[in-house]
Amino acid sequence: MRDKIHPKYTDIEVTCACGETYKTRSTIKDDKIRVDICAGCHPFYTGKQKFVDSAGRVEKFQKKFGGSYFAKPTKK
Ligand SMILES: [Zn+2]
Repeated sequence: MRDKIHPKYTDIEVTCACGETYKTRSTIKDDKIRVDICAGCHPFYTGKQKFVDSAGRVEKFQKKFGGSYFAKPTKK
């Protein structure tokens, strides 16, 4: 490695919104970072469905369109 061109590569701690923490290494200046989703809680890894819809956008949409949007079209 050449001198003085490489950033410092240090141990950091990652804290997820689900409470999971784990250690990794990074060149960022901080010694810890926060993430919203990690391998411990992402649906891809847990196999469970998870709703990230905290603002209730789906409900808002359903209210606005009166639920008919999701109903199956009836034959005339
Ligand atoms: Zn997580």
